[in-house]
Amino acid sequence: MDKTIEKIVSLCKRRGFIFQSSEIYGGFGAVYDYGPLGIELKNNISQLWWQEMTHVHENIVGLDSGILMHPRTWEASGHVSEFHDPLVDCKQCKARYRADELTTNTEDTDWGQVICPKCGTTGKMTSPRQFNLMFETHVGPVEGSSSVAYLRPETAQGIYVNYQLIQGAMRMKIPFGIAQIGKAFRNEIVARNFIFRTREFEQMEMQYFVRPGSDNNAMKEWKDKRFRFYPDSLGIDEDKLRFHEHGPDELAHYAKEAWDIEYEFPFGWAEVEGVHNRTDFDLVRHEEFSGKNLKYFDQQINERFLPFIIETSAGLNRTLLAVLVNAYWEDTENDRTVMRFHPRIAPVKAVVCPLVKKDGLPEKARNIVDLLKPRFKVLYDQQGSIGKRYYRQDEAGTPFGITVDHQTIEDDTVTLRYRDTQHQDRVSIDKLLMAIDDNMT
Ligand code: ATP
Repeated sequence: MDKTIEKIVSLCKRRGFIFQSSEIYGGFGAVYDYGPLGIELKNNISQLWWQEMTHVHENIVGLDSGILMHPRTWEASGHVSEFHDPLVDCKQCKARYRADELTTNTEDTDWGQVICPKCGTTGKMTSPRQFNLMFETHVGPVEGSSSVAYLRPETAQGIYVNYQLIQGAMRMKIPFGIAQIGKAFRNEIVARNFIFRTREFEQMEMQYFVRPGSDNNAMKEWKDKRFRFYPDSLGIDEDKLRFHEHGPDELAHYAKEAWDIEYEFPFGWAEVEGVHNRTDFDLVRHEEFSGKNLKYFDQQINERFLPFIIETSAGLNRTLLAVLVNAYWEDTENDRTVMRFHPRIAPVKAVVCPLVKKDGLPEKARNIVDLLKPRFKVLYDQQGSIGKRYYRQDEAGTPFGITVDHQTIEDDTVTLRYRDTQHQDRVSIDKLLMAIDDNMT
C-alpha cells in the first residue's frame, strides 16, 4: 500500500479532519484549520498528554501563560539574537530555500556553485541572509521600537518566568515539573508537508526542574518515558519510532544534550518531540535580564541554586500527523479505507444506525445514543445503505458500529461491529457500555 501525504490530506478534507486556512481566498500559507473530527482527535491526544503529565505525576503541575510576553523575555532567551534561519534565493526562478536544506555545511559552501533544485540553474543563488523566525507585532496604538512585542515562538519561556511563583504557591520541592499546552508561532521560511511544519502550531511542553548533578539521570528517565507515550498511550507502531541524538553541530545554543523522538512519515524520518537538557541556561539569563533572584532554596541541603531544566517539547500537530499516518490503512480486500485509530483517541467512538427508517427502529436507536453520549462521542446515522454508513465511519476511524434491527424490538439486543475486523457480535443493550469499555483500554 502506498501511504502518501496527498492521500491523507484528501481524506482529512473529505471527512472533516483538517482544512487549509482561508480556503475560499485561495488559502493562507502554512496555517491549517481543524474540522469537527480533527478537533476531537487533537483534544483526545492533548488530554492524554495532560493526564500523563499532571495526573500520573504528582510532582508536575499545569500552567497556561500568555502568548504575548514582555519583549525582554526574548532577549534573555536568546531568540532575538539567535533564532535565525539562513535564507537563500534563486535569482533566476525566485525559489526560496533554507540554506541548510541545500547543504550540510552552510558556512563553507561556495553559493555561486550551487544548483537550484527547482529550475536547475547554477550560479544564481544568493549568499545566505539571516532571517529571524519570530513574528513581530505592536502593542498599543503607537507603532515604534518601544511597542514591539513578539508572538511566542515556544511555550517554554512562559514556564521559566513563572517557575518561582508556581514553586512558592504550590510548595513544590525539587525535582518538580510544570506542563503547558499552547500555541506557538514561527515564521518558517519553508513550510511544507501538510501540518508537519506550519507557522502557527501547538506545543505540549513540560519543564522538569532538578538539582544540578542529577540532570543526566533525569534526562534518561524522561527520554524513556516520552518515547513510551507514543506506542503505549497513542497506539503508534513502535517500529516507526526512533531516537536521534543531536551531534555537536546540531545542538541549540541552550542545550547540553538533546534527543529527538522521530516518526517515519511518508516523506522520511522526522522529529515529533525533542527532549533537551537546557541546563540552567534560561534561568541564568532571566536572572541577568530581570535583575531578580531566581534561585531555589533546597531545605534538604540548605543551599540556594538555580535548578537545571530537562525539557520535553512535543508538537501536538506533528503528533497528530503521526497518528493520522499510522492509522491510515487501505483494506484492498474489502475495498475500503480505514483509519485504525486506537479506540482511546478515535474522534467518534461509536455510530448508531437503525437498519431501516421505520417500524420504531429510529426511536430505539436514538435511545441508545442517549444512553452512550454522556460517556463518549457517538453519532446517529440513518442515511444510505448500512454498508455505506459503515464505510463512511471506517474512514472517520470510528471503532464501533451499532445496528438496531427488528430483533432489537423483540429482545433488546443489537449488533456490535468492530471497525478493523468487521466482525459482528450480538450484544444486549444493557451490556453495550461494558463491551465498548472493554475495548478502550
Ligand atoms: P525543526 O528542527 O523541525 O524545525 P525544532 O527542533 O526547531 O524543529 P523545537 O524548537 O525543539 O523544534 O520544538 C519542539 C517541537 O515543536 C518539535 O518537536 C515539533 O514537534 C514542534 N514544532 C516546532 N516547529 C514547528 C512547526 N513549524 N510546525 C509544527 N510543529 C513544530
